[in-house]
Amino acid sequence: MAKFEVHQFPCLNDNYGYLLHDSANNLTAAIDTPEIAPLNDALASRGWTLTHIFNTHHHFDHAGGNLELKGQWQCTIIGARDDAARIPGIDIKVGDGDAFTFGDHQVQVLDVSGHTIGHIAFYLPDDQLLFSGDALFALGCGRLFEGSPEQMWTSLQKLRALPDDTMVYCAHEYTQANARFALSVEPQNVTLQARAKEIDQLRAAGKPTVPSLLGLEKQTNPFLRPDSIDLQETLGLVHSDPVTVFAQTRRLKDSF
Ligand SMILES: [Zn+2]
Repeated sequence: MAKFEVHQFPCLNDNYGYLLHDSANNLTAAIDTPEIAPLNDALASRGWTLTHIFNTHHHFDHAGGNLELKGQWQCTIIGARDDAARIPGIDIKVGDGDAFTFGDHQVQVLDVSGHTIGHIAFYLPDDQLLFSGDALFALGCGRLFEGSPEQMWTSLQKLRALPDDTMVYCAHEYTQANARFALSVEPQNVTLQARAKEIDQLRAAGKPTVPSLLGLEKQTNPFLRPDSIDLQETLGLVHSDPVTVFAQTRRLKDSF
């Protein structure tokens, strides 16, 4: 089985676009459609044909390019059944626990609602890739525009349960700001301290901090760590349940 090639490119202010290419079957999927020109440039530079769009959620910087790209490429759009009404041009509707094949590769769908209702993530177990959209960021998680803290924590637990060697491809370069917040709520975390330094160096050199290793997220991302005693102590919530700690962490980040 040929490995996938993942091509990552910046677009809009701080989004990342991704193309997932299966050379054996000549298939190329765009993970979301944040901006058309850089996406088409990325395809052209590689001589790839866009065959699929995998949508994580309906926000304009994720699905705004769907219809134009579908008109241009006649590609198949896969998105959430629970959010089908808001995914322009959707062809195949999927939900939590569904799996489909993309070439020779299995793609599993996880409902990770919270940022929006019907937000999904795409997990490719054989390739150890996770496309998390705006649910899980490097050192952060999406704002709760539509879902409750309970719902988001349920979603993040599904992602936390994936193997440590999973590469997390999130949709935004928010990591440096996220690191400042993470240090404010878990200043004792030496792994986080080291990671924050590395992030500063990468950004100073104009390099992306995405993707990141899920194992490192589990050790440093406060939104995956409501059971951390250090985090609970900072928040004054020692021995509180994870939802309470997660909800308070998210509230603090909203006004950080
Ligand atoms: Zn969004």
